[in-house]
Amino acid sequence: MDELCEQLREIDTSGIKSQNIPWPTEQLELIADAGVYRWFVPEVLGGMEWSAGDIVSGYIRLSSACLTSAFIVTQRVAALKRIASSSHSELRERLLPELLSGERCATVGISHLTTSRQHVSKPVLRATPVAGGFCIEGFSPWVTGASAAAMLLMGAELPSGEQILFVVPTQTEGLEVKPGFRLVGLTASQTGAVKFDGVFVGQQQLIAGPRENVLATLGRGTSTGGFQTSSLALGLSKSAIDFVEEEALQRLELSSTHRALKNQLLEIEGRLKQLAAGIPVCTNEEIRSEANSLVLRATQSALVAAKGTGYVEGHRVGRWCQEALFFLVWSCPQSVLEANLCELAGIES
Ligand SMILES: Cc1cc2nc3c(=O)[nH]c(=O)nc-3n(C[C@H](O)[C@H](O)[C@H](O)COP(=O)(O)OP(=O)(O)OC[C@H]3O[C@@H](n4cnc5c(N)ncnc54)[C@H](O)[C@@H]3O)c2cc1C
Repeated sequence: MDELCEQLREIDTSGIKSQNIPWPTEQLELIADAGVYRWFVPEVLGGMEWSAGDIVSGYIRLSSACLTSAFIVTQRVAALKRIASSSHSELRERLLPELLSGERCATVGISHLTTSRQHVSKPVLRATPVAGGFCIEGFSPWVTGASAAAMLLMGAELPSGEQILFVVPTQTEGLEVKPGFRLVGLTASQTGAVKFDGVFVGQQQLIAGPRENVLATLGRGTSTGGFQTSSLALGLSKSAIDFVEEEALQRLELSSTHRALKNQLLEIEGRLKQLAAGIPVCTNEEIRSEANSLVLRATQSALVAAKGTGYVEGHRVGRWCQEALFFLVWSCPQSVLEANLCELAGIES
C-alpha cells in the first residue's frame, strides 16, 4: 500500500499541472497490479477477502493519494461485487477472473433506481419483457468510466414496477456511451450518460430480478450510500488535514485547527470501521453526514491556511475544495441530503 500510494501521489501531482484532464490509465493499472480489486471478493472466488475495516482503511489511503482513481475503483467494485454475489454461476465464472485482475472492467449505472430521477413519472431506463429476455429503452444519466469499460452493470424498471439488474457489453448494438461531462471536480472520471435504443438483454445476462427494489436483494455491502462514500470523504479530508499540519509547522496559530480536525477524522474513521464490521455504533446515514461535514470543513480550512495562493488555479488545495463538493451529490440518500441541508442552514436536524 505504501508503494502504491506513493506512486499514485507522484502521478497525480504531475497531472494537476496539465490543462487537459486525461483518464487515469497509469493510476488504474497500478491499482489493478496491486490486486486492489481482489480485496472485495471471497477467497473461493479468487479474491483476498479483506475485512470491512481493512477495506475502509484501504479506501481512505487510496483516495488520499488519488481521489479520482479511488472513485473510479468504487464504481468498478460496485459492478464486480454484484456480479460476484449473483447466483448466476455461469456468468460469474465467465466474467470474474478478468474483472479481478483488472484486465477488463465493468462499471455501474444504477443510481436512477435510487438517488437520481426519482421525481419523474416515467422511469428513465425501461425494460419490456420480450421472448428470451428484455428490450431496454431510455438512458442511465450517470455512468462513470463507461468508455473504458468492457461491460456495464445496469438497472432498469419494468412496466409492473419491478426492476432488473443486468450486464451488457459496451459494444452492443443500440447502446451509446455519451461523452463524459466537464464536472466541477473529478472530470477525469469520464462520467456521462449511456443511451439504450431497443437493446436486447437475454435471460443469461440477468444478475437479479425482476423484483421490487432489486438493489436490496444482493446482500450486505452492495447497497447505495455504502461505506465507500464515507471512506473517500475521509481520504480527501486526510489530504487537507495533512496540509494544515504541514503549514502549522511554521505557523503555530494553525495548530489548534489541525488538532481538532485530526481528532474528528480519527474518531469518525474509528466509528466507520466499527459500523463496517457490523457493530451498530450509529447509522450509515449519520456517519455519512459527519464525513460530508468534515470533508467540507477540512478542505476549506486548508484553503484558509493556503490563503490566496491556494485559490490560484492548479493549486491542490483549491482542487480539493472543488472535489469536496462531490460528496454533497454522490450517492446521497434523502436522510443524508436533509442532514447536509440542516448543517448548511445552521438548524438542528
Ligand atoms: C461525478 C458523478 C459520478 C457519478 N457516477 C455514478 C455512477 O458511476 N453510477 C451511478 O449509478 N451513479 C453515479 N452518479 C449518480 C449519483 O450517485 C447521484 O444519483 C446523482 O448525483 C443524483 O443527482 P441527479 O441530478 O441525477 O438527481 P435528481 O434527483 O434526478 O435531480 C435532477 C434535477 O431534477 C430536479 N429535481 C430533483 N428532485 C426533484 C423533485 N422532487 N421535484 C422536482 N424536481 C426535482 C432538480 O432540478 C435537479 O437538478 C454519479 C454522480 C456524479 C455527480
